[in-house]
Amino acid sequence: MNDAGATPDGNTMRAAVLHGPRDLRIEDVPRPAPGPGEVRVRVEAALTGGTCTKIWRRGYHATMGRPPLPFGHEGAGTIDAVGAGVSRFQVGDRVVPANSAPCGACRMCARGMTAQCEDMVWLTGFFAEQLLVPARIVAQHLHPVPPGLDLRTAALSETLATVVKGSDRTPARRGEHAVVLGTGPLGLLWVRVLSASGVRVTAVGRRPEREATARALGADTAVGVEDFDADAAQADLVVEAAGTPEAWAMALRSVAPGGRVNLFGGLRADAAVADP
Ligand SMILES: [Zn+2]
Repeated sequence: MNDAGATPDGNTMRAAVLHGPRDLRIEDVPRPAPGPGEVRVRVEAALTGGTCTKIWRRGYHATMGRPPLPFGHEGAGTIDAVGAGVSRFQVGDRVVPANSAPCGACRMCARGMTAQCEDMVWLTGFFAEQLLVPARIVAQHLHPVPPGLDLRTAALSETLATVVKGSDRTPARRGEHAVVLGTGPLGLLWVRVLSASGVRVTAVGRRPEREATARALGADTAVGVEDFDADAAQADLVVEAAGTPEAWAMALRSVAPGGRVNLFGGLRADAAVADP
């Protein structure tokens, strides 16, 4: 093991641990030490999002884990200790650890559907002084942060990756018109990714203060949902990034014949979408 001089002293560290629904505690927990293939990261940016809120309310996550659950699954930091056998990384490297890595051996992995891996390794615990990154994530999904990119921005990589993957599934060509329903963080990232590809984007949201942000990120038009005429939109691509049954129905009304709809925002399993 290769300890950095900047490592805090002591055998414990502060960490946020979820113990049940709405029961998040800041605790002293054992400071992790990396085993073979693992690295330890001093966390410098950790994010919250809609998924974190859901986990906090429910007290668990179906795949990421059950309480006591180290909290937070997105972030970035600097490696401060490296386990045996790790050659690609060293102490001082700035990195984004992804929060999962597939097994490469199961039925779903064999079909190339690694995001549906039946034996996924998950990583939570970004809301802590330090984070132990499992060997499988080090080997597959530990990303160096390029010089000039600050860690707070780099921490958005996982979120952005979901949008890039969604955009690969439902591509839009330069000059086409896309409607993005929802101006939360993910909707705004969609606006950025699409506009950067030369797509004309209409952003539709509920919060007026987000309209200026959507325009700054490249939206040609940003309107409130009450001012949006779905039936007249005739979009080549509609991205639903609001996660409500109403937005799902609106997405189907907004698309032109032969267009594409990406139902990106998740719904509860028992949600019902009205006939648009
Ligand atoms: Zn697998």
